[in-house]
Amino acid sequence: MTELAAPPVEERTGIKRISHWIGGRLVAGESGRSGPVYNPATGRQTGDVDFATAEEVDKAVQAAKTAFATWRQMSLAKRAELFFAIRELVHERREEVAKLLTQEHGKVLSDAIGEVTRGLEVIEFCCGLPTLLKSEYSEQASTGVDVYSIRQPLGVVAGITPFNFPAMVPMWMWAPALATGNTFVLKPSEKDPSASLWTAELLKEAGVPDGVFNVVMGDKVAVDAVLEHPDIQAVSFVGSTPIAKYVYETATSKGKRCQALGGAKNHMIVLPDADIDMAADAAVSAAYGSAGERCMAVSQIVAVGDVAQPLIDAIKQRIPNVKVGNGLDPSSEMGPLVTREHRDRVASYVENAPGEGATVLVDGREDAPEDGFFLKPSLLDNVRPGMKSYEDEIFGPVLGVARVDTYEEAVGLVNDNPYGNGTAIFTRDGGAARRFQFEVQAGMVGINVPIPVPVAYYSFGGWKASLFGDRHIYGPEGIDFYTRGKVVTSRWPDPATSKVDLGFPQTR
Ligand code: NAD
Repeated sequence: MTELAAPPVEERTGIKRISHWIGGRLVAGESGRSGPVYNPATGRQTGDVDFATAEEVDKAVQAAKTAFATWRQMSLAKRAELFFAIRELVHERREEVAKLLTQEHGKVLSDAIGEVTRGLEVIEFCCGLPTLLKSEYSEQASTGVDVYSIRQPLGVVAGITPFNFPAMVPMWMWAPALATGNTFVLKPSEKDPSASLWTAELLKEAGVPDGVFNVVMGDKVAVDAVLEHPDIQAVSFVGSTPIAKYVYETATSKGKRCQALGGAKNHMIVLPDADIDMAADAAVSAAYGSAGERCMAVSQIVAVGDVAQPLIDAIKQRIPNVKVGNGLDPSSEMGPLVTREHRDRVASYVENAPGEGATVLVDGREDAPEDGFFLKPSLLDNVRPGMKSYEDEIFGPVLGVARVDTYEEAVGLVNDNPYGNGTAIFTRDGGAARRFQFEVQAGMVGINVPIPVPVAYYSFGGWKASLFGDRHIYGPEGIDFYTRGKVVTSRWPDPATSKVDLGFPQTR
């Protein structure tokens, strides 16, 4: 009698193994190190992700290096055609990846579809790559001499991404990198890595050659291997500020180009003349959407003058209506946090608020669903500089309110904050809004818009501790980041007029 083979480990345990993608195929990790992936809505482990060694990162870089030789030769017409195919596939299959995001990140399905849709805008922008790569030409710059500029790809470039946008943030990087002729190594967050493999398979299906897009899973070991690798020309990073600073300093010390986007503490100023209902709707949406795990989430309201009490009342009235639950349930508006550890850290700010002089108006620890990593919306009043709940990026559904007397005090709070990612003002006064836009120190400003993420044909990025480097991400600055300029000076003289001239070339 033949013995039946045991079913695969995945079937027996329900835990899927998540491996690397190198040279156009899945490659099982060999380090023996891995990390758990959870479904945050149930709290159960669903995956086990391999952690790469420096040797495994090198294999991905070598695959990308080999692919670069042919990828950079591909005509702009052919590359644009591929981008249209990628665009179609992502558009058709966005619900499929959105479901993966909900299952590993926790965000509700409609929000996950929103994430993919915003990423798709960057892919659509990149479909215009022939136009984006057009350069300049000066005929007769000197007699018989023409001068023109070209932009060329860097080679192998890498992206290191955070847990909160597992599909969109990688799209901010790989789309402009590939469109401009580079090949790519992605090191996604180890907390929700499956979307990156979905992307790898989709790019292959669209016709992107093997080795052009690679994924290495892992932790600090993989990140350090990326930062140290001599064949990686540029690193894009999105994540928390301390790691962004570390990545920027290490990558640039190794001679790499680097853009490293960090954390945030986004203030929303509400002036006394603002429409209270509109401001309260915006505050609740921007603070609690995606459980506050957005780098552009509003985490701090600054209420000017007598707007504070009616605004707080309007926010409090709305909070009980926010439906918290499993993101796959279409009626849920807010899902769980990404891990138990993160949920507990966020909850600690609510617990410690009274001790530092803030007032807990709504306590999201009460009645939160017990399974999974849930915390309901919380609201803190009288949150001021010096308190941890003001100084730290909480990155969860905890909204603080500071009360100030004047517009000047409000803008002073934003400008004194070490972060400078996004900020917003709510007012009916055009003059006040224009003054705010002129003097506020942040990279992305909303006027009656609480989450001012720029459209794909502008670039995204903060100031101060929210960005290390001098290029924002995607849009025109993204194209710039992934290309290097070259200027050609050319002439086709009659050889009969040629002579030796040791003087410095001058225009004539
Ligand atoms: P994180 O900094 O913990 O992780 C980001 C990446 O760095 C991950 O790939 C992770 O594996 C890696 N990493 C973590 N610790 C490391 C270490 N010690 N050495 C080397 N690499 C390390 O960030 P996160 O928790 O995944 O994401 C949330 C953070 O990202 C928040 O601070 C949020 O504001 C920020 N974020 C910023 C933007 C932006 O555009 N500015 C966008 C999204 C998220």
